[in-house]
Amino acid sequence: MKWTQAFIPTLREAPADAEILSHKLLLRAGLIRKLAGGVYTFLPLGLRALRKVEQIVREEMDRAGALELLMPALQPPEIWQQSGRYETAGNVLFKLKDSGNREWILSPTAEEVITATAAAEINSYRQLPKNFYQISVKFRDEIRPRFGLMRAREFIMKDAYSFDVSDEAAQVCYQKMYDAYAHIFARCGLKAFPVEADTGVIGGKFSHEFMVPAETGENEVVYCEACGYAANIEKATSGIPKTAAREAGAAIEKFATPGVVTIEALSKEPYKVPANRQIKTLVYIADSKPVIILIRGDDQLNEAKLAGVIGTTVFRPATPEECVATLGAKPGSLGAVASALKSSAGVPPANSEGRPEARATLQIFADERLRGANGMTTGANEDGFHFRNVSIERDIKVTQWFDLRTVTAGEPCAKCPDKSGLKIRRAIEVGHVFKLGTKYSEKLGATFLDEAGTRKPAVMGCYGIGITRTLQAVIEQCNDKDGIIWPLSVAPYQVCITPLGVAPDSAVMKLAEKIYADLTARGVEVILDDRDERPGVKFKDADLVGFPIRVGIGEKSLAKGEVEIKPRGGALQPVKADTAVEAVIKLLK
Ligand code: ATP
Ligand code: MG
Repeated sequence: MKWTQAFIPTLREAPADAEILSHKLLLRAGLIRKLAGGVYTFLPLGLRALRKVEQIVREEMDRAGALELLMPALQPPEIWQQSGRYETAGNVLFKLKDSGNREWILSPTAEEVITATAAAEINSYRQLPKNFYQISVKFRDEIRPRFGLMRAREFIMKDAYSFDVSDEAAQVCYQKMYDAYAHIFARCGLKAFPVEADTGVIGGKFSHEFMVPAETGENEVVYCEACGYAANIEKATSGIPKTAAREAGAAIEKFATPGVVTIEALSKEPYKVPANRQIKTLVYIADSKPVIILIRGDDQLNEAKLAGVIGTTVFRPATPEECVATLGAKPGSLGAVASALKSSAGVPPANSEGRPEARATLQIFADERLRGANGMTTGANEDGFHFRNVSIERDIKVTQWFDLRTVTAGEPCAKCPDKSGLKIRRAIEVGHVFKLGTKYSEKLGATFLDEAGTRKPAVMGCYGIGITRTLQAVIEQCNDKDGIIWPLSVAPYQVCITPLGVAPDSAVMKLAEKIYADLTARGVEVILDDRDERPGVKFKDADLVGFPIRVGIGEKSLAKGEVEIKPRGGALQPVKADTAVEAVIKLLK
């Protein structure tokens, strides 16, 4: 491709709304343009790089035995109602009406469609296992689209869905996808690593996200350098000790705390109750019912863990009015001490199987770190009063104990507690592998007859890669002050030939044309910068766009029979003009 015939609208400055480096570079290098917030056009060079990422993903999916198909972006809402996600994922669904006032959904993902397809087409264990994937446009009504392609409203995703006869078989497939992901990101030139991920409402152990470390990432990853443990902070646990028990026996005592409504205020004069001796009482509304959460005063509630516990992501903190209605006081004076609760609160009665019944009774979930704690202070459910000498087991009727806190940096690792402690870093989630189990197959009827003739739901997994996000993650990771440094595998063009003069009959231009023709004939993707521009402008643009190899041809060096080869981000190498093509080919290998 000749530069003058290409379309590479580079920019000296990035538009003001581009906040992070990779977003700026995507715009400055002329790869994408914004149509609206979170909605972008891929310009020709951007599209070339995007297609390369897609192709790597496609090859590795095929190699792992997955089958490519293409599902519609326009989906009927009925299947979303069937799966239950019309409500639970409702906030990200783009909905639209056709001329007959019928509602449609723009696909944010395709578990419903593929499961409905499998339900109709798969009937026997002989047809399993199957793993289907597609690379297609997805739509999500993100609350905060930002950072360019990182969090867009419209983006390209590879999504795969596996169907297996058993849990064990599903795990084999999961591992195949996990391994394929490692290959994919390595081939894209990305340093991405797997971390244990939140399994949310579905539960189970099998969920990993592939993370690219980056300060601008929206995720936090907790990791241990000693043993390699790594988990999304939504999921991470640590070996932090439980709350130290004090001498038991002291009677519970109410005391006045006028105007004190924060953990911090209570930790100061005249009360001086350290945060780690306080119980924080939180009220959440889930399914329009209140639930009480108890966390140690110096800990933070992890809402992802809470979602797993209560079985829905549709919940919110209660308003002050709802707190008053539930417990009788405003936030700041709340507590769960049984004697200070309304009669409906506490452990719900057991049903015939001895399990607590999930009835209208107020549920109290406490964080494991509080188990056995005594001598604690908590709100008295009366504005301006607290209790001291609270013993959790004696004074509070906890419905159930869970890990509900968020890990912080420096805590001991649960696996190797004597080592240096956990660290936290920010990262970009580029891919996600997830064992779904039978949630969707049961709801949408994807069942099969096993060898014995018994009908069973298929065991599913789903596996996503943000293709557009991955592309931007490459840029976020591979750049310098001058621009992008494309890994060869995903560069829009591998080589840029830069003649310093472009007079048609000059020796410089003739050589440039010859190297261009020879490299092209050898299958190399080359761009020839035939613009009549100053060398400085051309070099700047080539560095900005980030071609892995630049071949500079100028009169001066050519007088010595030489051209200059410069790997992007590497040192200039003068080579004999007649060996230039071979030298480039060697660098490409
Ligand atoms: P996030 O937590 O970042 O919102 P997610 O966990 O909801 O992502 P998945 O449903 O797991 O995303 O989708 C699979 C992949 O699609 C993600 O790993 C990510 O790379 C990509 N992705 C998800 N949402 C977006 C988006 N709004 N813009 C660009 N890529 C996205
Ligand atoms: Mg995810």
